[in-house]
Amino acid sequence: MVAENINRIKQRLPPHVALIAVSKTYGAESIMAAYSAGQRDFGESRPQELLQKAAALPPDIRWHFIGHLQSNKVKMVAPRACLIHSIDSAKLLREVNKACEKLSITAHCLLQVHVAQEEAKFGFLPGELLDYLRSGEPATLRSVRLCGTMGMASNTSNMEQVRGEFRLLKQLHGQSKALAPQPELFTQISMGMSGDYPIAVEEGATLVRVGTLIFGGR
Ligand SMILES: *Cc1c(COP(=O)(O)O)cnc(C)c1O
Repeated sequence: MVAENINRIKQRLPPHVALIAVSKTYGAESIMAAYSAGQRDFGESRPQELLQKAAALPPDIRWHFIGHLQSNKVKMVAPRACLIHSIDSAKLLREVNKACEKLSITAHCLLQVHVAQEEAKFGFLPGELLDYLRSGEPATLRSVRLCGTMGMASNTSNMEQVRGEFRLLKQLHGQSKALAPQPELFTQISMGMSGDYPIAVEEGATLVRVGTLIFGGR
């Protein structure tokens, strides 16, 4: 089942879009079924769970951290994550930079933008994001590499609203890229989940984060 689901989704993705299998809450067996089908990019949203899985599962898996990251968990996550999608504040980016400096590593990061019409979601507001990039601070953080933007659309059946939010994210991505410390590295747009990834791809996603459609209901 898992392998078929992965193949079906991959067939629909253009070659420039990577599939991240969101494995949070699913066990090693499900992950290994995906791995056997060739899947190497997996998304986790809890630090402890990511660490346990990374220790137990094949070393060539690329673990993406997609959940809200608390300051005290940065040290745990930074060495294990190939990409942190969920940098939702200037403070968090500073903390990731500080932790990586100590560990002599570089963290690849996406800036999470709040584009949904929902209070509960995390992220920079569009204006905050651009102001932060204009502030010049990001260029001083030498142990993080800004690779793009991430966002989530509202949890609604109104697909025109969802499309509008993805379109806004794509537009903000373009503006951010121009202001980023290394624009040539600012290439990734992480958007789209099980319910809306085809729309996200149409609107310019380069990474889609799909869980339920691959592994079944949580
Ligand atoms: C859980 C989660 C997903 C995947 O959601 P599905 O609806 O199961 O595809 C994607 N992105 C984030 C940030 C998540 O927390």
